[in-house]
Amino acid sequence: MDLGIKGRRAIVCASSKGLGRACAIALANEGVDVTITARGAEALAKTAAEIRAANPAVTVTEVAGDITTPEGRAAVLKACPEPDILVNNAGGPPPGDFRNWTRDDWIKALDANMLTPIELIKATVDGMMARKFGRIVNITSAAVKAPIDILGLSNGARAGLTGFIAGLSRKTVINNVTINALLPGPFETDRLIGTAKAESAKRGIPAEQILADRAKTNPAGRFGDPEEFGLFCAFLCGAKAGYITGQNILLDGGSFPGTL
Ligand code: NAP
Repeated sequence: MDLGIKGRRAIVCASSKGLGRACAIALANEGVDVTITARGAEALAKTAAEIRAANPAVTVTEVAGDITTPEGRAAVLKACPEPDILVNNAGGPPPGDFRNWTRDDWIKALDANMLTPIELIKATVDGMMARKFGRIVNITSAAVKAPIDILGLSNGARAGLTGFIAGLSRKTVINNVTINALLPGPFETDRLIGTAKAESAKRGIPAEQILADRAKTNPAGRFGDPEEFGLFCAFLCGAKAGYITGQNILLDGGSFPGTL
């Protein structure tokens, strides 16, 4: 399927690894010029080189920096001031007990997972509306639909973003600018493997065992493949996806047990 976005420009945040990387690859495979970001320059350069090698006709721009800071965002917007596509993503906040979280912990989580996407949307959405094309995808979490108790910082910050987008996304679609969220369940990325390794150290069980047991609890009997996530993101960014806005779409192998 040709998604009709060849030659478009995308900013894909937090994209040297994992889900962001998969989105950048899927968009580049559609002929989209991608600006990719991450704090670690080395992994970012490696991903950029891989995308370039697979898509020589596409322009890949790497911007190393922390997307949750004003400087990090300014650098990305300087590299790609008029994106047609914006994929918002950043690392998730740490787990814990809310009794131990300070105001600073909350501000950090809100900055990363609520205010950073809002700032980037603020900087780009009016241009998209004026040009009559825009696709914004926020990578949030399945925890938006089924909150996970120890991930209170994530539950709170991402729910705030989701509420804000519910209003805005109905105001932009008249100009062919859609805003949607993708809610990942367990996808096999460094983050998921890192969590298993930490649990392994705590419980004295091999990380492979922890991962295999966890995969079995999913109705699909496995974790998601980041490529599956990236392809869905690319579809939402496609020319023919202009009638989908304000949606929160779960990609979780059927984990969420509800009808809606
Ligand atoms: P990942 O494999 O750890 O990759 C995270 C990527 O984001 C890396 O490229 C990382 O590079 C970059 N990054 C992190 N913080 C950044 C920052 N402040 N500024 C710029 N780049 C940053 O993680 P993932 O599994 O793809 O997860 C992506 C998002 O989905 C996270 O918010 C996560 O909480 C959420 N999520 C994931 C799953 C899952 O199963 N994978 C499930 C639910 C929700 P640097 O570290 O070099 O910056």
